[in-house]
Amino acid sequence: MIIVLKPNTSEENITRVENQVKARGLDTHIVRGTEMTIIGCIGDTTLIDPRLFEVDSCVDKVMHVQEPYKLANRAFHPEDSVVDIAGVKIGGGHLGLIAGPCSVESYEQVLEIAKAAKASGANLLRGGAFKPRTSPYSFQGLGVEGLDILCAVREEVGLPIVTELMSPQYLDLFNEKVDLIQIGARNMQNFDLLKQLGQVDKPILLKRGLNATYEEWIMSAEYIMASGNENVILCERGIRTFETYTRNTLDLQSVPVLHKKTHLPVVIDPSHAGGKWWLVEPMAKAAVAAGADGLMVEVHNNPECALCDGAQSLKPEKYDELIRQVKQIAEVVGKTL
Ligand code: PEP
Ligand code: MN
Repeated sequence: MIIVLKPNTSEENITRVENQVKARGLDTHIVRGTEMTIIGCIGDTTLIDPRLFEVDSCVDKVMHVQEPYKLANRAFHPEDSVVDIAGVKIGGGHLGLIAGPCSVESYEQVLEIAKAAKASGANLLRGGAFKPRTSPYSFQGLGVEGLDILCAVREEVGLPIVTELMSPQYLDLFNEKVDLIQIGARNMQNFDLLKQLGQVDKPILLKRGLNATYEEWIMSAEYIMASGNENVILCERGIRTFETYTRNTLDLQSVPVLHKKTHLPVVIDPSHAGGKWWLVEPMAKAAVAAGADGLMVEVHNNPECALCDGAQSLKPEKYDELIRQVKQIAEVVGKTL
């Protein structure tokens, strides 16, 4: 971090600001120009809020020269993180294939989809029990009953389950029953919820917010990690752009960018990105080719009658076709299933 002082700051004020920096456990390096003086701060500045110095009347601006995140930063953790979800690994060459309906509708529905998805090669089962819907009049999910259905299907089929937590109210219940806790796009910056996730010992799938920058998204992962839970997987699910033909715009660049900036696994959700079932296959294949550590795909046995997101759901036969091709691409890019 560097602190640029206003032109002609007195020696007395330079020393005063320098002492404030030192009081926070950092060393300083002073660069004196003809008019301007810059204080370079040496040490771990990730925990220091630049605004502490910006309010000083002698300070012109404060700039971070390092990223503001540490635990998620690849610079401090060069090897890929591998997250273990009840025995299923994601990251560092292990591909996670998460499949299932948008919402849990009934035991029979989830069971049929889970059996088919597993036969195709899926290694994790998704299904929303608590649904974040834009309209309060839309189906809100079966809640705790939906969670119990997922658990019953896990017993029957043997796939670990992934489902979205929206409120800290159900934290203990999720910690007890869910294998991978999903934090949805709308809650990516629900900082109170993120901080609570340090208290669970289950891994977290953190979706990208609707219009979050990479740094905002990584900072949300940092919240979870700093609170004590380092098992975080990032999930790109499309972002808001000016384009309205598709539900969102899939930012595939997020895969190499996040791999460069962080050591966390990156999963792509092509279903919520495009919002159309026929976009899922090409985007899923492109994601694996780009180095994604996994895919989250919505699969429904009767999409026409789905209570949520039928238009973007693949029928089990289409999912099967997709995974057959994904396996070939995975081999080329050195990923194991
Ligand atoms: C979902 O996966 O069911 C979901 C609601 O996704 P997102 O939070 O990405 O919109
Ligand atoms: Mn959905």
